[in-house]
Amino acid sequence: MSSNYQLKNSSLAVMKETINSTYDVIIVGAGISGIGAAYHIQNDCPGKTFAVLESRASMGGTWDLFKYPGIRSDSDMLTLGYAFNPWKGDKLFADGSAILQYVKDTAQKFGIDTKIQYNHKVIDASWSDKDNLWTLQIAAHEGVHHQQLQARFLFMCSGYYDYNNGYTPDFPESESFKGTIVHPQKWDSSINYAHKKVIVIGSGATAVTLVPEMAKKAEKVIMLQRSPSIHFKFARCGWLYNVFEQVIAGKNRFSPRSMEAYFIGD
Ligand SMILES: Cc1cc2nc3c(=O)[nH]c(=O)nc-3n(C[C@H](O)[C@H](O)[C@H](O)COP(=O)(O)OP(=O)(O)OC[C@H]3O[C@@H](n4cnc5c(N)ncnc54)[C@H](O)[C@@H]3O)c2cc1C
Repeated sequence: MSSNYQLKNSSLAVMKETINSTYDVIIVGAGISGIGAAYHIQNDCPGKTFAVLESRASMGGTWDLFKYPGIRSDSDMLTLGYAFNPWKGDKLFADGSAILQYVKDTAQKFGIDTKIQYNHKVIDASWSDKDNLWTLQIAAHEGVHHQQLQARFLFMCSGYYDYNNGYTPDFPESESFKGTIVHPQKWDSSINYAHKKVIVIGSGATAVTLVPEMAKKAEKVIMLQRSPSIHFKFARCGWLYNVFEQVIAGKNRFSPRSMEAYFIGD
């Protein structure tokens, strides 16, 4: 039996080509998961060969892609971070840029950065029972020729959303809207919202981080939500961080400064 896993948006002409390389493990994606997976393969299976294939020109995945104002984690960094390289930043809920730097530093610290092949987009994976191997097709892209790579084990760390087109509902007549419509995934620093009236559609984690930051510059920001949600105000550092850190990372960071940050806010 053979199975074929064809990735979304791919158009593949089946080619009979030579195999460029064969690895024990191929990890797809150099985001927080891919770097973590690579560390564990390297550490726990030292004799195994592996490669990390990344479709973009940089690592970090989510934390490299999203640039909207106020981007930060919505789970605590002691949980989101790596057990093998615990988060040591000051904030329990960290800014996007700090998370990206943490992922990059981790990759460099453990030599994972040298295992990443950038601009390597996997567009097809097929399994052969006869050979006990996955064969991956890598799209030709920015200096990378179309290639075929093989692996005994395929580790998909490719995230859960479409990097090219974030989910956007069809809003009838949106084309006649005179203002700017932007998806947070496509945010770039040229977008100017100072003194403008803004509606943020949705009330999930992205909206919750975006609204307070935009409100600092915009004339007015309204959050439009379909269903009510509940939010608690929480300090981004403070005594809870210290408790978490003590329990999870075995450290004691209690200090008068952290108590002040919690009670007065930071
Ligand atoms: C704004 C935002 C905030 C978030 N905050 C949190 C949080 O606080 N806590 C939490 O737990 N989660 C959060 N998430 C979810 C978050 O995406 C994950 O927690 C985590 O970053 C996912 O890491 P990942 O490595 O699995 O995937 P990603 O970060 O999506 O990385 C996947 C990588 O795979 C690459 N890739 C994809 N397809 C291919 C392909 N075919 N070939 C080669 N490479 C490919 C991508 O280019 C990317 O680099 C957040 C998500 C967003 C969008």
